[in-house]
Amino acid sequence: SKKAKISDHLDGIPPETLSKLQKDLDGFDLPREKLQVIMSLLKKDVNRGLGKHSHHRAPVKMLPTFVRATPDGTEKGDFLALDLGGTNFRVLHVRVLEEEQKMVKMDSQICAIPQEIMTGTGEQLFDHIAACLAEFLDSQNLKGHTLPLGFTFSFPCEQKEIDKSILIRWTKGFNCSGVEGEDVVKLLREAIHRRGDYDIGSVAMVNDTVGTMMSCGYRDQSCEIGMIIGTGTNACYMEEMKNVKRVEGEDGRMCINTEWGGFGDDGSLKHILTEFDVEVDKTSINPGVHTFEKMISGMYLGEIARLLLVKLTKDQLLFKGKTSEALLTPGSFETRFISEIEEEESGLKNTETILTQLGLTWDSVDVRVVRVVCDTISSRSARLCAAALATLVNRIRVNRGRGHLKTTVGVDGTVYRKHPNFSEELQTWVRRLSPDCDISFLVSEDGSGKGAAMVTAVAQRIALQSRL
Ligand code: BGC
Ligand code: MG
Repeated sequence: SKKAKISDHLDGIPPETLSKLQKDLDGFDLPREKLQVIMSLLKKDVNRGLGKHSHHRAPVKMLPTFVRATPDGTEKGDFLALDLGGTNFRVLHVRVLEEEQKMVKMDSQICAIPQEIMTGTGEQLFDHIAACLAEFLDSQNLKGHTLPLGFTFSFPCEQKEIDKSILIRWTKGFNCSGVEGEDVVKLLREAIHRRGDYDIGSVAMVNDTVGTMMSCGYRDQSCEIGMIIGTGTNACYMEEMKNVKRVEGEDGRMCINTEWGGFGDDGSLKHILTEFDVEVDKTSINPGVHTFEKMISGMYLGEIARLLLVKLTKDQLLFKGKTSEALLTPGSFETRFISEIEEEESGLKNTETILTQLGLTWDSVDVRVVRVVCDTISSRSARLCAAALATLVNRIRVNRGRGHLKTTVGVDGTVYRKHPNFSEELQTWVRRLSPDCDISFLVSEDGSGKGAAMVTAVAQRIALQSRL
């Protein structure tokens, strides 16, 4: 188990160092009781976010997505998909085959988004997106085809309809001017019209969590939750329409994008924040925003580790008290290092290589201490996600009036996929925290690409049916 693993890491660390180290790591510890407190706080915030009059000030936004149905297997056709807000910006051409009930990625292309565009103007961003799409359509001979398009836009949006989606705020590394408060579909269409060399059909706006749920829903009908633990973190789930007070209608269900990354933005998580979390927030491009996400996701974990390593060095617990220029540089300790360092077999060797690359002089105790630090940070992240996920699963169970619920969670994201034991620790804790639920996990096959195409296909099917 994980516990045994930590004590393996501790092997070879002198008791005196260990007890000093413990003091700095204590703040990261989340035993069951603390996780249960977090669950009850989130449970309250979920209700606040869904409420007609309380949602304006709610830190967990609980956004309606206008996705009411999961695939029924009759969807078909050719679709374009855009994926913005994950590790890469991508353009895809996806074909949904009715007969075989499957989605086929015909082709795709990754386009880099330069730093100056990520923090430039909205017009520059959407011109860049439109240009990437043009290049892709050219290469596929699709320019004359006007295909429907699924736009995976992985930021909090107030959706008015499936094709009207107002950006509430940028998160992760993005900060383009003139987009917050605007309809993203309109900005995309305007950029395409400015070029005038091609057009797109109907658009469906999709959060990556929703795409992830839908791409898994195609394979497993009981998939009603989508979760991302990557650059950012978030989850969506199927809520009863009667509880979605902000959208007309009492019947059936609608997918809700929780935006759980904002949990704690009203100060409710103060009691678990460490000095390192406070510092990461202060130096981020969006201070005060996405408190929960900053303790969990790939954009921030490496920086938390770096700050902790600097502190331990200054306290003479590492590297004989000697830091390096690299270690003192923000962003130099990448989140992927944490995964490499915690690798079961090659971890110690990887740690040595990384520390050397960072210009540090280390001994065998340092290497072990660094491993413990990384383990502490990734383990906290996994437990926090587990508490949040358990809250949602329990909610679905109560919604359905069941004593016991069997359900599937579609998952994606670099932290979940790449870290050697993150998924294991997450699953163990979710099961502990929601003993009345039987939860399966399904890693999504390209939810932000194929899943977005599927959302578009379902929307199109429903639009056609209602016209008949
Ligand atoms: C965004 C979410 C998104 C998540 C994962 C967060 O920063 O607010 O909309 O789902 O990242 O990509
Ligand atoms: Mg993605």
